[in-house]
Amino acid sequence: MKINEINFLIVEDDEFQRQTLAGMLQSLGARSVQMVGNGKQALTILQAESIRQTDIMLCDLEMPEMDGMECLRHMGCAYPDIALIIISAMDTALIASVEKMAHAYGARLLGALEKPVSLARLEALVRLYEPVQKATHRHSGKLNFTLEEIIEGIRENQFEPFFQPKFHVATKCITGVEALARWVHPKHGVISPYAFIGQLEKSGKINELTFVMLEKAAEACRVLHDHGHMLTMSVNISLISLTDISLAERITQMMRQAGVDPHYMILEVTETAAMTEVAHALENLARLRMRGFGLSIDDYGTGYSSMQQITRIAFSELKIDQSFVKGFADNNRLRIIVESNIELAHKLHIECVAEGVETAEDWNALKSLGCDTAQGYFVAKPMNLPSLLDFCSSQVST
Ligand code: C2E
Ligand code: CA
Ligand code: CA
Repeated sequence: MKINEINFLIVEDDEFQRQTLAGMLQSLGARSVQMVGNGKQALTILQAESIRQTDIMLCDLEMPEMDGMECLRHMGCAYPDIALIIISAMDTALIASVEKMAHAYGARLLGALEKPVSLARLEALVRLYEPVQKATHRHSGKLNFTLEEIIEGIRENQFEPFFQPKFHVATKCITGVEALARWVHPKHGVISPYAFIGQLEKSGKINELTFVMLEKAAEACRVLHDHGHMLTMSVNISLISLTDISLAERITQMMRQAGVDPHYMILEVTETAAMTEVAHALENLARLRMRGFGLSIDDYGTGYSSMQQITRIAFSELKIDQSFVKGFADNNRLRIIVESNIELAHKLHIECVAEGVETAEDWNALKSLGCDTAQGYFVAKPMNLPSLLDFCSSQVST
């Protein structure tokens, strides 16, 4: 959509700032720019529009009467189709937390700009705008499945692990892979875990998938070893699925059948719901660790994955969540968190893994901080078994 077709609404109490922003938008080609002095006036204007006339709202955070935060809340509830740009002179950490808040309220946020606003940044955000029809068309691509459909897919053997390599940071050598569930749907193609894990966990059916994943991951590990690639294999296990007391025994049996030594298997434990019955899970995990399985605390620092977990379970690996790793090299707060997590892991004498490494900057920063292992799009994306075998061979020959 051309900028001259977009209708802008500026919400800013300072007359000078308001005029400057309007001038900038006009210099980019905007023809329809309305201005108001606070959130209340903005909502009054929007309520009065019988047909939607506002496409993008630029909103200051500090304003009299109704501040930007309250305004964003109303926007999320009443006008989720209007795109928003936050403008503020406050520090970046605070702006970032307001961005998160706006998303949580369902507002359609294009991004945030620090004052003084740069024309290039403003233009870049405006160019992200696409009309709602297009945006919803894209979202309709998101598929919703019923629990019955998911279970049927599992029983029809449509679920496969994809494998994402993990690398030793100091040498950039591949050390292992993480098995990530994919639904290879006959009609819809490859479907991501976000479309099915939540429902399986909530309904207590996650073990249907866990066993398929364990079995196929163990087989794949056997194939890799047969090709001379002595990699570890990580599998995701929801803590909630470990309440079944017989689980440790069944997992051990599966490895025995596949002919894989438990020392090559790492179970990545995620806790996505508060657990009341922890005793059984702890018994299973202690037994698995005693038999040589590696235990990894996944998504460390998010949700229920906490310090308390570290004291309860004999973990051999700590996995720093990607939300801390992405872009941490040039974000002071994230850097402090990543650095302390690496230090924590090392003091506990366990492996430290960073996930979600997307850039050379973050990779180099991890290297200088002494992180043991890393995983992320910068080094390799998840892939199917044939591609993984090719990938491993190409690593050996280079
Ligand atoms: P996770 O265990 O934290 O897995 C890492 C996720 O981050 C994977 O998404 C992976 O593809 C993605 N990722 C890896 N590197 C990068 C990167 O550099 N940038 C970005 N943006 N993303 C990266 P995926 O495969 O969609 O899995 C999502 C989540 O689903 C997993 O998060 C895990 O919690 C869950 N999951 C996947 N497979 C299973 C499973 O078999 N069982 C259970 N219980 N949960 C699973
Ligand atoms: Ca994981
Ligand atoms: Ca994670």
